Amino acid sequence: MPREVVLKTLDALQEGGEAGLEALVLWLAHFDGQGAEVTDVWQPKQDSTRTKDGLHLRVGGAELARLNEDLYRTGRGLLAQVHSHPGLAYHSELDDAKPIVTEQGTFSIVVPFFGFISLHDLTACAVFRIEDGLFVPVPPSESARLFVLPG
Ligand SMILES: [Zn+2]
Repeated sequence: MPREVVLKTLDALQEGGEAGLEALVLWLAHFDGQGAEVTDVWQPKQDSTRTKDGLHLRVGGAELARLNEDLYRTGRGLLAQVHSHPGLAYHSELDDAKPIVTEQGTFSIVVPFFGFISLHDLTACAVFRIEDGLFVPVPPSESARLFVLPG
């Protein structure tokens, strides 16, 4: 993965974090038979709010339609949704219920501490992969192998 992708991702997450809010970006990739190369970080328009029940983040249907149109036009695919949590990284009920990624083999990555971490690999993050419609946790050793980040 290009360094720029990592930097852009952390920037977006940290910017939300500075306001005490969760943030979400999408990793767009070119797929070939063997794997995928992340080429762009898409930050969708999102509603990120803080209520007394906690933090909520939502991406509207119109924005998802815009995304799908872009993917179709550019021949890219959605490899992963990446979002921040204020504290520990895990998949909340809402994360399970309202995912943006839906394709078999794509990923949902949760970054802890509003993205204020160093991202040499994804072992600090919670990584899930869609298998048969369910989010299956990817162990750190596997995520480090799957996602090659710039040193
Ligand atoms: Zn979440």
